[in-house]
Amino acid sequence: MSNLPSEPEFEQALNELSESLKPFLSEHPEYAKAFEIVQIPERIVQFRVVWEDDSGKAQVNRGFRVQYNSALGPYKGGLRLHPSVNLSILKFLGFEQTFKNALTGLSMGGGKGGSDFNPKGKSDNEIRRFCNSFMAELSRHIGKDTDVPAGDIGTGGREVGFLFGAYRRARNEFAGILTGKGASWGGSHIRPEATGYGVIYYVEHMIKNSCPEFSLDKPSTRVAISGAGNVAQFTALKVIELGATVVSLSDSKGALISKSEKGFSKEVVEAIGELKLKGGYLESYQSFAPGGEYEYHADKRPWTLVENVQIALPSATQNEVSKEEAEALVKAGVRIVAEGSNMGCTAEAIDVFEATRKQGKGGVWYAPGKAANCGGVAVSGLEMSQNSQRLTWTPQEVDSKLKGIMTDCFNICLDAGKKFSGEDLSGDVLPSLLSGANVAGFIKVADAMKAQGEWW
Ligand code: GLU
Repeated sequence: MSNLPSEPEFEQALNELSESLKPFLSEHPEYAKAFEIVQIPERIVQFRVVWEDDSGKAQVNRGFRVQYNSALGPYKGGLRLHPSVNLSILKFLGFEQTFKNALTGLSMGGGKGGSDFNPKGKSDNEIRRFCNSFMAELSRHIGKDTDVPAGDIGTGGREVGFLFGAYRRARNEFAGILTGKGASWGGSHIRPEATGYGVIYYVEHMIKNSCPEFSLDKPSTRVAISGAGNVAQFTALKVIELGATVVSLSDSKGALISKSEKGFSKEVVEAIGELKLKGGYLESYQSFAPGGEYEYHADKRPWTLVENVQIALPSATQNEVSKEEAEALVKAGVRIVAEGSNMGCTAEAIDVFEATRKQGKGGVWYAPGKAANCGGVAVSGLEMSQNSQRLTWTPQEVDSKLKGIMTDCFNICLDAGKKFSGEDLSGDVLPSLLSGANVAGFIKVADAMKAQGEWW
């Protein structure tokens, strides 16, 4: 028995990597040492955040930054502001981020941070005072060549602005210490869109290699999406722009399903974006989508509510697809599952999908978040490059680089899935993108660590 505290989310992420690495490690046992070492974060910073609420009272929260691995570049990863935040969640996210960032091909290590502060129901002034206090401590531990945080759940453009301002004033230094900044003050074009767009660019490769009949320019291709935040919104908008049909979105209180053939409209997705900025919930859908074309289901995720769906994109949070929901998706006709969220599927749900893939033709092809959603952090990497050059690239330039990164990431996962999954891929069995992403990400980080004398 380990004498370490139980960390369920981190252990889940670690078990997944460990399973994927088995065939590779049996051929290359020397890498077992790297696997032992890479599990432990280089450093964890934990601190107290005292902030003043609107009635003048002192409030206190926990602040964290997990600096997981810097073998490939400065620690890089978002800040999550959510009441569920604890070290298990931030360690799982930082661990995943390390391999995800490796798959972008850019020079970024892995990290993650945040606080159990709940931004829901807080005024802008309270959020600003929280961000000022949080950065007062975090600023001692980050830097443009050390650690570059960004957004995640609960941290969007407004929070990045407050955090950046707090750092700049404290240090008298305008530096690329955060990504996701505003376009006029050091941000990159396409960063807000990047995670969602990147998921779709990755999915386009999955479609081409498995079910070309599901082309995203056809309205008959139906896509179920969960979530209603940044990732879900821009994923949905890209699907709509290309011409396929979005059948669902959701938030922590329930799921919104389109009843019409046309699916969600661009206008409704944009209205959801505005609603979420104001802290609203989808339950008020009649205010922005009147006319009976949508159906709201309280306390439900979309997966058991959709029929005749070819593609499912979990884009809300971790463990948002259970075994039963995965089975419902298989029944609904889903052939492609790609995570916009980090660890969106439970281990049991992944087993359901992977078992169908191993049966050959007609199975589900599953792509883990560390591959499918790496477009967000990839454009953060491009924001860092632009900041170093003090230049701003055009939206077209950034979008075409993002497409290239997603293509490379897909090919790396596909090749490593063929080489390292230990599976017999004769017949129509598709390579495991799960094994591919995990092994390829691991080898890249492990090799850099070895070259830098961190294992031998
Ligand atoms: N939080 C995002 C992720 O999970 C983005 C991180 C970043 O841009 O640094 O990848």
